[in-house]
Formats: sequence, structure tokens, C-alpha cells
Amino acid sequence: MKHAQPSDLAYVPFVSVDNMMKLVHHIGIEQVLSELSGYIEDDFRRWQLFDKVARVASHSTEGVIELMPTSDGEVYGFKYVNGHPANMKKGLQTVTAFGLLADVASGYPVLLSEMTILTALRTAATSAMAAKHLAPAGATTLAMIGNGAQSEFQALAMKTICGITDLRLYDVDSAATAKCRANLEGFGMTLTTCKTPQEAIQGAQIITTCTADKQYATILTDNMIGAGVHINAIGGDCPGKTELHRDILLRSDIFVEYPPQTRVEGEIQQLEADHPVTEMWQVVNGEAAGRTSAAQITLFDGVGFATEDFSALRYVYDQLEGGNFHQYLDMVADPDDPRDLFGMVQRAKG
Ligand code: NAD
Repeated sequence: MKHAQPSDLAYVPFVSVDNMMKLVHHIGIEQVLSELSGYIEDDFRRWQLFDKVARVASHSTEGVIELMPTSDGEVYGFKYVNGHPANMKKGLQTVTAFGLLADVASGYPVLLSEMTILTALRTAATSAMAAKHLAPAGATTLAMIGNGAQSEFQALAMKTICGITDLRLYDVDSAATAKCRANLEGFGMTLTTCKTPQEAIQGAQIITTCTADKQYATILTDNMIGAGVHINAIGGDCPGKTELHRDILLRSDIFVEYPPQTRVEGEIQQLEADHPVTEMWQVVNGEAAGRTSAAQITLFDGVGFATEDFSALRYVYDQLEGGNFHQYLDMVADPDDPRDLFGMVQRAKG
């Protein structure tokens, strides 16, 4: 990231939903997922540099609103994100988000961006980054359970980054599966619509659960999970919201982003507070082992961590130069004399 010049600082580049869609098509969605995964992995590699804190969550009976801040010492970032499973029935998104990057030296914002699309991209890129390290070698088949807003992004990232060629789809709502299938036609994967989760996981080396329900759900039971699979569980991401039966966790080697957050929000909220888990950044760095045997069940208990949003914003920022995918927002006051803010307000006097 380059720093903006002082004269530019009053005007903050803003990437709207419309421009994010155009940017994704300009680069190509599979290339975006692949490059984004590289940015996320790079930031996992320099994990120690980051200010890390479990996200600040405001819970309600309908859902959660969260702030996710972090900094690498030079750049600060945060995301605002919600999770409201009942929204869909009202014609609203379950997850919406926006985020900001700022220059640590001045504290001035340098980028404001939509992050609803970007969250789906970064969640998929993170899932695939983890699967690259944890899934059995030569995995070709993905079971995708939960075919909502995140699902196509998840499937494409697993195709591009992990070489998935066969996708088996299941959702309690067959309309969601039909939508997902139609969206993924033409991307070069063999698509199979399944009637039950048991059918979906037949022959799958990677199983992604990405359902939305604010309860302790049991999308996968212990008897469904055979030796050697990789489970990418990303739908359970707040207290009281899980997807896997506890017995699966007890048979799995569990990999997480940031334990203080995952212990409260992830599948492992069902386990004792000292149940052993491996931090994904250590696997990326080579400090801890990923998959060590063909029979091992690996579980990425992904809840989404602030560094992944930081990486995604950093990626978007790096795409802006010379492009036409942002507009400038008059977000920061720029008085002629920094102490004369009152005087600056008089500029607008009629
Ligand atoms: P969505 O509402 O668009 O889709 C969820 C889908 O799950 C729906 O199609 C619904 O019919 C299906 N579903 C619900 N219960 C099911 C069940 N028992 N079996 C099969 N399918 C079932 O939501 P989304 O935007 O795709 O998000 C999915 C989940 O992922 C949410 O819980 C969200 O909070 C979470 N999420 C996690 C991360 C992360 O970083 N871990 C990021 C984004 C979203």
C-alpha cells in the first residue's frame, strides 16, 4: 500500500457495491479469489505484527452486529458486519458489511469500501487457503451444505485454489440449491443436486457447512463423517450458533483463526475451554503441522477474523490505482488552519 499525499487526504476513495461488482468482473472472479487468498495467507504469515482482539459483538434475539478491528502498525482497518438469519425471509441479506482502512501515522482514513461482496470473497478465499493446507491430497469433490449467499463464492474458491472438479449441493430449501446450481453452470465443475446431507457427502473429500440458523444445529452427525475428510465449518459464527455434532469435534484435529474469538463463537464453544486446537497462522508459517495422515479428520472451525478483512481491504486498495472503480468522498474536514474548524464551517454560509 502506498500512502496518500496530504492534499488528497480530505477525499477518501470509496468503493461502492456497483464498483465492487465491476472490479470483480474486470479482474475475473477466480483470479480475485486466488489473489485474495494470497493476501490473506501473507497476513497470516506476519500474524505476530497484528493487533488482535476478538470482535466486538452486539447480540439481539434476531442476530448480531459486530465491529472487527486490527492493525499491522502501519495501516489500521475495521469492518462493520451483521448476521441476521431471519433477514432472508424479509427479502434482506443475512450478512451485510462495509469497512475502512486508515493510515496509522496520521489516523486519516484512506479507503472506505462496501464489504458485503468482499466478505463473501474473503470468506471463500480463507476457506480455500485453509483447505489447501488441510484437505487430503488430490481432493476433487466438495459437498456444499447450505446454498445461500456465500455458497457460490465458496465453491469457486475451492475449485480455483484446491482443484475441486465435482460439487455436490444440498440445502433444506431446494430453491437455494437451484439458484446456486444455475449460478455455477459454466464454471467447469460437475454439479450434483442432492436430496439429503448424507447424499451430498458421498465421495466428498471436503465438506463445507455454510448454513444460517441462530441455534445449536446439527447439520452433520458423527455417523456421517468417515476417516480422512476435511470439514470446512463456517456457518456457525456466534455464541449459540453451531453446525456440527460435538462428537465430530472430538474425533477431529481442529484448526482455528484466533482462539479467544473462536472459543466463544465457533464450533468449539461446545468443548472444554482448554480443548487443544491449532492456530492456522502456525500451519501457514510451518510452525505447526497441518494434515499429517490420510485417515485424519481435519476441521477448519472458521468464524472470520479481522486480519482477513484487513487483507481484503488491502487487496482492494491495491487495485484502485489507475482504475475507474472508486469515487471520492468528502469525509474529512480540511480547514485552511487546522485549528480553525469553526472558520471552515463558515465556508458553507449562504
Ligand atoms: P444465507 O441466509 O444466504 O444462506 C444460508 C442457507 O442455509 C439458506 O439457503 C438456508 O436455506 C440454508 N440452511 C439453513 N438451515 C439448513 C440446514 N439445516 N441444512 C441445510 N441448509 C440449511 O446465509 P449466507 O450469507 O450464505 O451465510 C451462511 C452462514 O455463514 C451464516 O450463518 C453467516 O453468519 C455465516 N458466515 C460466516 C462467515 C465466516 O467468516 N465464518 C462469513 C460470512 C458468513
